[in-house]
Amino acid sequence: MNTQTVRCPYCGEWLEVFIDPSVRRQEYIEDCQVCCRPITLTVTLDGDDVTIAHVAARTEED
Ligand SMILES: [Zn+2]
Repeated sequence: MNTQTVRCPYCGEWLEVFIDPSVRRQEYIEDCQVCCRPITLTVTLDGDDVTIAHVAARTEED
């Protein structure tokens, strides 16, 4: 399984998120491991290479 780092939009800590290579675009909510607030993560895979994934993190309110 592939992982990426993303910055928490609340507390600014860097978090590791797991990328599911079988889904090309996925959006889910994951609680920050540091401040425990819900982060909306959007993961987009670039081409067939699952090592290139774009991860966007935003607050739940956005
Ligand atoms: Zn946080």
